[in-house]
Amino acid sequence: MAGKRHVILGSGTAGLNAIRTLRQLGDDGPIVLVSAEAPYSRMVLPYYLARRITEPHVTTATGRQLDEWGVERQIGRRAEGLDTKAAKLRLDNGEDVAYDDLLIATGSSALTPPIPGAEHARCFNFWTLDDAKGVNKTISPDAHVVMVGAGFISFTILNGILERAGRLTIVELAPRILPRMIDDAGAAMVTDWLIERGVTIRAGAEITGIAERGQGLRLTFAEGDSIDADLVLTLDRETEREAKALRLNPPVEMLGDYVGTGEEVEDPYGRSRRHYRDVALQLKRLVELLVARLDSGAVSTPEP
Ligand SMILES: Cc1cc2nc3c(=O)[nH]c(=O)nc-3n(C[C@H](O)[C@H](O)[C@H](O)COP(=O)(O)OP(=O)(O)OC[C@H]3O[C@@H](n4cnc5c(N)ncnc54)[C@H](O)[C@@H]3O)c2cc1C
Repeated sequence: MAGKRHVILGSGTAGLNAIRTLRQLGDDGPIVLVSAEAPYSRMVLPYYLARRITEPHVTTATGRQLDEWGVERQIGRRAEGLDTKAAKLRLDNGEDVAYDDLLIATGSSALTPPIPGAEHARCFNFWTLDDAKGVNKTISPDAHVVMVGAGFISFTILNGILERAGRLTIVELAPRILPRMIDDAGAAMVTDWLIERGVTIRAGAEITGIAERGQGLRLTFAEGDSIDADLVLTLDRETEREAKALRLNPPVEMLGDYVGTGEEVEDPYGRSRRHYRDVALQLKRLVELLVARLDSGAVSTPEP
């Protein structure tokens, strides 16, 4: 008898690892992968920017690999609705995909700050492969890059930007860089390190507008002054969907950035959002999932 029909929504780290794990555990049921993007790892985008790797190395599963795993694909399609009673996922082309179980692994998305002009073609988030390609095309050795936000993502791409641009300014709303990651003493050390490398830091500063100026952009600050830039990177992320997701029950499961604590936090712009990820919760969830599958006899453990 054919196994359960698994629908995996999202082909990032969580979705892809779920597929790999199902097959490694001997589950040979049909798998349908629905994803807005082809499988790749966002985590290696900094190396792509720094030109340490090329696009094929960003890919986490080729068509051949997915064929070997027997994965039916709906790539380039977004899920727009979920009917848990009928056990169907609604796609953006109106098609329904039926599931026996569904894994939601849609990750998180970039936060574009509510600054007028932040949608300009020279302003990028650095969250998707398309963003990275856009930056790659626009950046040049004499470019002045402005990073908005001095958090984790900014520092993953810092070396790539320093290597590929002429000048870097980091603007942070909080009074110091890395406000959610390290303490004041650590931030002071990193600040010194950046200044030694010619980076300009404006902490406790708010950009209030971005406007086109010649070939580039002019950024205006709340203090009233302005700077010119060739490209602007807005580097924060958000998820707003977790609380809803956490109320879903099996056979719908969640993994990856999509799963959060549901805790209300304030984003740097004073807007309310949900906490996006909790590692302990993730691991607990993963263990529960695997134990449930083993208990149900749906999968067997691999031979030693
Ligand atoms: C530049 C950069 C550097 C990073 N470095 C690190 C690091 O060093 N260490 C670390 O732990 N983390 C790092 N991260 C974060 C890490 O990439 C994420 O935590 C990870 O990608 C989360 O995996 P995920 O599978 O939950 O979601 P994602 O990788 O975001 O995948 C989500 C998938 O769902 C798809 N999708 C979303 N909505 C829909 C929809 N409605 N319909 C269909 N498909 C949909 C997307 O297209 C995508 O395929 C980095 C991120 C970036 C951007």
